[in-house]
Amino acid sequence: MSNKSKKNRNQKSNKTNVIKIILGSLCSILLIMTILLVSKPELLYRVQGVLLGRKDQYVSLKGKNYSKTNLQSFDLNSQTEWRSEQSLILLNKTHALPEGFEPQMAEYKDSGVQMNVAMLDAYAQLSAAVTENTGDKMYVSSVYRSVEEQAEIQANDPEIALPPGHSEHHTGLAVDVYVFEHAGMNFLESEAGQYVNKNCYDFGFIIRYPEDKEEITGITFEPWHLRYVGLPHSKIIQQKFITFEEYIDLLKPNKFYRYNNYLITRQPLNSQIVLPAGLQNIIYSPDNTGHVIVTGQVND
Ligand SMILES: [Zn+2]
Repeated sequence: MSNKSKKNRNQKSNKTNVIKIILGSLCSILLIMTILLVSKPELLYRVQGVLLGRKDQYVSLKGKNYSKTNLQSFDLNSQTEWRSEQSLILLNKTHALPEGFEPQMAEYKDSGVQMNVAMLDAYAQLSAAVTENTGDKMYVSSVYRSVEEQAEIQANDPEIALPPGHSEHHTGLAVDVYVFEHAGMNFLESEAGQYVNKNCYDFGFIIRYPEDKEEITGITFEPWHLRYVGLPHSKIIQQKFITFEEYIDLLKPNKFYRYNNYLITRQPLNSQIVLPAGLQNIIYSPDNTGHVIVTGQVND
């Protein structure tokens, strides 16, 4: 074999090796990216957001201390312009209904169904969106339940039902929904169920007992049980793939959190509330952990 053809062969095998190394590296990178995206749903949501040009871009929620010079102290009870809600009350096996709690109820659209006033508009919007997008009409099977009614339910189903005083249905903020021929777990088999489980977060609702979170919520997956928490809390819960329990835990007392133009702070109840000046559309709700969550909008 001539030197020339040897050289050619060597060059060829060198080229093949380089291509193999490049392909191998690309495969490794792809594999690492896939593992990262699958193991971190939050990251997947962000990547999807960029690719789809989603408007409500994920905003990392890091607690901040504001400069003391910008803060003002307020007495919660004398703020007539602030809206008081019950929307962020936490109820579960360990957090019972607070003593003397009276749900703020109103009738939903002359339907005879009573629900918490905080979610009247949001439920109407969600319900309309379901019909518009799927053609299905969504029905309510249960909203408000008295402590006595829950006691009866628990007596019949002690393994699954929460004890009386611990159900979100006592607050009128939880709604069990269904569509024709698709109730309970079957709700997910319907187009409306799929739509609601994906999009209820845009309307201030969350799937309160999501799949694979039983360890935290104490309840298995309930795709039909919607809980109203309001915006932007529902969006943050969706985008961070967390439960309501984890969300409350994430909001460290006396810190300020920004999400788009919203400012959120969780501060001890029965104390002066400290807020940056100029906050608008302020809503506050006790969270049943000895704190109140205040949400306002910033104009900047
Ligand atoms: Zn329910």
